Order: sequence, then C-alpha cells, then structure tokens
Amino acid sequence: IEALMRFVRYQLGKDEPHFGWIFEDKVGRIEGSPFGEFRRLEADIPLDRVRLLSPTVPSKIVAVGRNYVDHAREHDAEVPEIPLLFLKPPSAVIASGEPIILPPQSGQVEHEAELAIVIGRQARWLSTKEAMNFVFGYTICNDVTARDLQRKDGQWTRGKSFDTFCPLGPWIETELDPADVLLTCRVDSELRQMASTREMVFTVPQLLVFISSVMTLLPGDVILTGTPAGVGSLLPGNVVEISIEGIGILR
Ligand code: MG
Repeated sequence: IEALMRFVRYQLGKDEPHFGWIFEDKVGRIEGSPFGEFRRLEADIPLDRVRLLSPTVPSKIVAVGRNYVDHAREHDAEVPEIPLLFLKPPSAVIASGEPIILPPQSGQVEHEAELAIVIGRQARWLSTKEAMNFVFGYTICNDVTARDLQRKDGQWTRGKSFDTFCPLGPWIETELDPADVLLTCRVDSELRQMASTREMVFTVPQLLVFISSVMTLLPGDVILTGTPAGVGSLLPGNVVEISIEGIGILR
C-alpha cells in the first residue's frame, strides 16, 4: 500500500522523462500518466541513479498570498477577507536540487516555504464536500520572490515569475492529511521558517472551492497555499531546504 503513495518524474541518463513511483530507495517506471490510466512497472532503479524532475508539469500555478496571519503581520499587511490570488508561470518551475538563479534586476530575492496542492481531476465550481476528491496529492514549493520588485511594481507578476522561481518537489505524496503538518525552511542549516499548516487562514478545501469558482483547474495544476512568517533574503551559494512532515525535503 505504501508503495502507491509517492510519484516522481525522472530521467535516466539521456532517456525521455518518465513518471515513476517510489518503493523504498528505488524508482519504478509508470506506463501512462498518474493523472489518468497507468500501470506500475517493477521498482528496480536506484533513486540515486536518476535525475529527479519537477513531479508535475502544470498548466498553471495558482498561488495564495498572506494565508498565514504572522506572515501578513511581518509585512504590515492586512489578512485578506477572501483568498488573495496570483499566478506563477509554468516556465518558473525547477526540480529539487536545481539552482535558483538570482536575477540582475533584483537586490532582494527571498524564499517562501509552502505546501503545494497537486490537482488530480478537472475541477470547476467545487463544493466544500467534494473538493478534496479532486486533489491528487501534495508536494513542496519554494515561492521564490524578488521582494524589491514586488513592492515597486504593485502587481506581483514580475517579482514572482523569474525563471527558476518555482522549485517544486521532490515528489508527490498522495496520502497526506494537509490539515496539521509541520513545515520548516532552513537556509545553510539556519532555521528561518517553522509553522504548522493548521495556522493557515484559508484551509485546503476552502482554497479549492474559491479558486475553482474562478477558473478551471486541470490535472497536474498546482496550488501554493501561502507561506508562514520568517521569509528572508537569499545570497549567492545559499542552500535552501524546505521540509514538510510526511512529504520530504525540497532543496
Ligand atoms: Mg507565497
């Protein structure tokens, strides 16, 4: 049963990318797509022999701003009465282990540790009761932000959208209960962020209901659920490690 819980995308040598599933420290190829019909082949490839890719290729990444009270406070911002949405482009996605490129236009690039929801089925106008049935699983995201540009522009698009500003992974965990899991962010081993998802202003089902009342969510789409307090600057060479209990570590 446990073997069904973790899905990756990977590349072995110069082969085409494949979806895979993880059993202990091995990867098995998946024929088809985990978002539709698929068959699991034997898990016989050592995990350290493959290159992990982002576990999904989303049509869009819908992010939620100020979804933790203490993070809104650290920026002297109001907690919104309805979820505050913005988009990150799919071109910003990188896999766990890949480098974030600090763009020359910004002098203040910051990390934001977030729980990411991965959509399993096409969704529009979800009710609270059915919302969780449309979740495929959960992964980890770093909502990397050029804070100076976000402030300067008013619109958040530029500050949130540089290439490499959406590290996602390392895999999708399908059996997580997202109501109360611990999330931490370390930069070069220094603890920067620590909170439980219990502290979210809007819960996972509330976000699914709200976002699906605006736009159609497609299989593989990603929803970023906001970051707790403790965001801070990244400098060249820093290593950012975001850990979510029950999922793993995004680096
Ligand atoms: Mg964020």
